[in-house]
Amino acid sequence: MKLENKTAIVTGGSRGIGRAICLALAKEGANVVTCYTKGAEAAEETVSMCREYGVQSLAVQADVSVGKDVEVLFEEALKVTGTVEILVNNAGITRDGLVMRMSDEDFNAVIDTNLKGAFYCMRAASKLMMKKRYGRIVTISSVVGVTGNAGQINYAASKAGVIGMTKSMAKELGSRNVTVNAVAPGFITTDMTDALSAQVKEQLAKEIPLSRLGQPDDVANAVAFLVSDEASYITGQVLHVDGGMVM
Ligand code: NAD
Repeated sequence: MKLENKTAIVTGGSRGIGRAICLALAKEGANVVTCYTKGAEAAEETVSMCREYGVQSLAVQADVSVGKDVEVLFEEALKVTGTVEILVNNAGITRDGLVMRMSDEDFNAVIDTNLKGAFYCMRAASKLMMKKRYGRIVTISSVVGVTGNAGQINYAASKAGVIGMTKSMAKELGSRNVTVNAVAPGFITTDMTDALSAQVKEQLAKEIPLSRLGQPDDVANAVAFLVSDEASYITGQVLHVDGGMVM
C-alpha cells in the first residue's frame, strides 16, 4: 500500500475520472475526501466504494468555484487525520461554443470552476503542505489545454491555465518537498465526453495512435503514480494520458 496513512482531497469525485481517482488512491491506502455540487447520492456511492478498501472517506458538498466552499472542504478534510498530503484537482466542466457566440456567462463559468477552483484548492493545500514539508498536487488538465480546440476557447484557456499554475507552484514549493504536476487526458469515456457530438468524437478518434478511447482508470493510474513516493523526483510536469494524441 503506497499511500497508507495519507489523506487525499479529490475534487469532483462523484463520477467519471474523479471517482476512478478516488478509488485508485483508496486502493493504495489513502483516506479520501471528495466534494460535489449536485448529486449527493453518487458522491456517497464513491465514499462507500472507497471505504471497502478499509480507509476513511467522506464527501462534502462544496463548489470549488466558491472560495468559502473550498475553505469548508479543507476544514472537513482536516477532521480526518489533521492534515492533507495529497490534492487532486479534478472537478471540471465544459460549456462549448464558437467564440463569436460564446456568452460571458459560459466563458466565466468554465474559468471559475476549472481554473479558479484549482487555484483556491492549491492555495489552501500549499499552506498545509509547506508546513508539513511534504505534499503531492496533481491537476487534471486536458489535451486541448496544449493543442487548443475549436469550440472550446473557454475550456482550452482553463486547461492551459492550470498548466501554468502547476509549473509556477512547482517552482514555489519544490524546496518544501511538495511536487506539483498536471495530467492531460485525451479522449476519455465519461459523462462529459458523452455530451460531445458524434462528429467531434469521430474526428478525435481518428487522431489517436492507440486507436481506442481512454478509460477513467487510465487517468487514475497516472495520478496514483504521481502522488506516490516513486514519483518524488518528478515535478512541474504535464503527463499526457491520451493514447498518443499529443507527442
Ligand atoms: P464529469 O463531468 O463526468 O465529472 C466531473 C465531476 O466534477 C463531477 O463529479 C461533477 O460533479 C464535479 N464538478 C463539476 N463542477 C464542480 C464544482 N464547481 N465543484 C465541485 N465539483 C464539481 O467529467 P470527467 O470526464 O470525469 O472529467 C473529470 C476531469 O477530467 C475534468 O477536469 C475534465 O475537464 C478532465 N478531462 C476529461 C476528459 C474526458 O475525456 N472525459 C479529457 C480531458 C480532461
